[in-house]
Formats: sequence, C-alpha cells, structure tokens
Amino acid sequence: MDVEKFLADFQDFMAPSMDVYEQSIYIYIIRHSRLIGQSDAVIGFKSARKKLGYGVGKHKTPPSEGVCYERLGTLSEKGFIKVLGSERMGTRIHAYLPEEIPELCDGHSSEQIIDIEDMDFFEDVENRQAILEREKHECFYCRAKLTADNYIMEHVVSRPAGDNSYRNIVASCRTCNNKKGPIDAASFVRSLYRENLLSQDEFKQVLEKLEMLKKGELQPIVLSS
Ligand SMILES: [Zn+2]
Repeated sequence: MDVEKFLADFQDFMAPSMDVYEQSIYIYIIRHSRLIGQSDAVIGFKSARKKLGYGVGKHKTPPSEGVCYERLGTLSEKGFIKVLGSERMGTRIHAYLPEEIPELCDGHSSEQIIDIEDMDFFEDVENRQAILEREKHECFYCRAKLTADNYIMEHVVSRPAGDNSYRNIVASCRTCNNKKGPIDAASFVRSLYRENLLSQDEFKQVLEKLEMLKKGELQPIVLSS
C-alpha cells in the first residue's frame, strides 16, 4: 500500500464526501486491515468506538455503537467499504482504497492540468502571491525588500500592449513602479544603474532576468486549488 498516495487521495477525493464519523471509522478499518497487509478486518465497535476519537455530540464521549453501525451502512452505500458478515468478535469489513474506486478519482484527478499560460497574475490574489515568492520578496528592478503591503504588481510592458501573464508581471517596490511609468523596462533598469542604485553586476543580472522573463523561463510556482 502506497501510504503517501493513499493519504493524498483520501483527503482529496474521499473526505469531502464523508462526515467526521465516517472518516474516523474508515481510517480505523484501513489501519487494521490494508495498512498491515490484510484484506479485511474484524471489528467490534463496542470497544473500537472508544479508539475512534470523540464524538461530535456530547463533549469528550466516543460515538455510540449505534452511530458506528449506522455509519458502516452509509460507508457501504457510498462504496467505500464492504461489510462481509458478522462474526463472534465483530463485523468483518473490507475497505477499498481510493484508487480502487475508479469513479472517485475520475474527472478530478490530482494531475489536473492548469495551464499557467492562461493565468492572470495581476488580478488574482493568490497568483500575485506566487509572483512575490518568485521574486523572493525583493523588487524585481532595484532589489528593495518587499513586504506584504509595500509591493505592487508591475507590468514590464505597460498595458494595453502588455498582458497579465507571468511573462509580463513582476513584483516591484512602489518607487520603481512610479519612476518607470510607460518607458521600456531595460531603459528603466539602465537609469537605475546610472543613478548608482544598482551595481554593474546587479544591472547585468536584472537585464538577464528581463530576458528570461520574456522567454517564459521565470515561471512562478502556482498551487492548484
Ligand atoms: Zn524597486
């Protein structure tokens, strides 16, 4: 059993359609079967219920046996488990791993393709954050330290010619944003160098960054939601 995959799939595809009792019971079954290399587990909920966690009702009391059996029913209806029968020690249950339930992962696969080329890095707040992180919280032009409330999203090529893609949006300090205005970025960086705001090395590096940006080599890391 690939535990890492299981945990991710469980959280992404199963948990959203389970209540908290179902989640804890399902995990308990997995713990006592698949996780230890067994196909199924025999569980007596009279005692197992105390190991599941607190109920959501009365403070610090475990779910009742009745609640547990009721949830076995709903878990089974949802196709997450199969009740195989009753035995002296309890109920024999087989739990399916998320990857064994094809309809579960279909359509919202974890490998969902997000086309970064289509994303808006100017309007979308989360994407702005990704740009700020790409810039390592420093102004793209002058390297001034940027904080959450002093940075600004800057169009390298001003609108309307320039778009809101990661190839054209950088994080900059307000001073650079104001000073640059509509002039082209390379000329602006040269002016910073002339004003001794950048060393020669820094000047070259920023010009290189501008080239890389244009070529799409400075992709920010965007978290899929
Ligand atoms: Zn700056």
